[in-house]
Amino acid sequence: MHDLAALAEKVIAADRASVARAISLVEDTRPAASREAATLLSLLGRSPRHGQGHRTGVTGPPGVGKSTLVNALIKHMRRAGRTVGVVAVDPSSKRSGGALLGDRARITVDPTDEGVFVRSLATGGEHGGLALAAPAIVWVLAAAYDDVIIETTGVGQTETDVEHVADTVVLVIQPGSGDTLQFLKAGIMEIPDLIVVNKSDLGALAERAASDVKAALHLADGSAAPSVVLVSATGGQGIETLVGLIDARRATERTATAARRQRGWVHWTLSLLVRTIGERGIEERGGRVALAETISRELGLGRSPPEIAGALDRREVFTR
Ligand code: GDP
Repeated sequence: MHDLAALAEKVIAADRASVARAISLVEDTRPAASREAATLLSLLGRSPRHGQGHRTGVTGPPGVGKSTLVNALIKHMRRAGRTVGVVAVDPSSKRSGGALLGDRARITVDPTDEGVFVRSLATGGEHGGLALAAPAIVWVLAAAYDDVIIETTGVGQTETDVEHVADTVVLVIQPGSGDTLQFLKAGIMEIPDLIVVNKSDLGALAERAASDVKAALHLADGSAAPSVVLVSATGGQGIETLVGLIDARRATERTATAARRQRGWVHWTLSLLVRTIGERGIEERGGRVALAETISRELGLGRSPPEIAGALDRREVFTR
């Protein structure tokens, strides 16, 4: 049994050992641990910092340089005095390695720097890309750090999950990403908030890719076209521009961000309920639409999605 109030306080103070302990607790699927985790998450969610930070999702196909880019973002943010929490969601193919992805970069941070925390999470082949623990880990990190970065591999519909945990979705591609462009054009892929064309040091190829993306977006049926930034994650060019664009969204999109978070948390709560009571249980409790309203109301009362899911499961909360 943890002293949850004390643990929450230490997490909010960004004590790294406590952040790690909190993450272990939210990953523990045993019933007693789950109940503690739900309470801890509610405590963390009520801390003022929790709502203030920005959650940036970095997604894209393997090999485009996401890990390298996240390293560059961490460095930039740390230099600006901002603390950073990172969750890197590894598809199992990445862990098993293989020659194809042999030259993958790792996220590497200074182990003595208390202002940065990196957590890897294996999806174990789970469909949908983001592991179920990811939203809980993001929730914990948001209570502790100024910036939260979620790195996830994939392209197309499989990774749309990142939209549920990120305030800003950054799609990373590299020169020659024809498939990605086709996905964007065909509307198979959600239009991200920002698009990074990485490896700008490859010169004309990269510029060509950037103009191809802009043309593809023009054809796509999206209303607000995302900015396209040329970046070299290894050389550092464009990183400042990218952080500037993320910060601009942080500053101007507060209402949209709040609405998106709300949708993400409702989605998370419903996903938890699907696992415990199934679609049938959801129907018995009034159906998804009515439950979404109830969940929103409970979120407004300062309860975390797992706490709400537990209460709905035990019928301690009723739909109105
Ligand atoms: P991820 O699979 O998307 O996380 O990609 P990685 O970060 O592991 O990078 C894949 C490969 O691309 C590595 O060999 C990196 O060194 C390389 N890479 C990453 N960024 C750049 C860049 O800006 N320019 C060039 N030329 N190579 C890069």
